[in-house]
Amino acid sequence: MKKILLLFITFFMFSAMVYAETVVFNTKTYKYHKPGCQWANRCTVNCIKIEKKDAIKRGGVPCKVCGG
Ligand SMILES: [Zn+2]
Repeated sequence: MKKILLLFITFFMFSAMVYAETVVFNTKTYKYHKPGCQWANRCTVNCIKIEKKDAIKRGGVPCKVCGG
């Protein structure tokens, strides 16, 4: 029974992570990156960390290098 509960918690945490995926959103070019992307690391002035769904809501376009 404990194993099933643990499996359920793991699954729930994983889904929560997917839904609340954070991206680096460039407010000037409207491109969003994965946090580990080289372009996200270079972007320090116009970039903010927001949820992916919010980036899309703002008209964000996925980065061609990391795929957003
Ligand atoms: Zn990128």
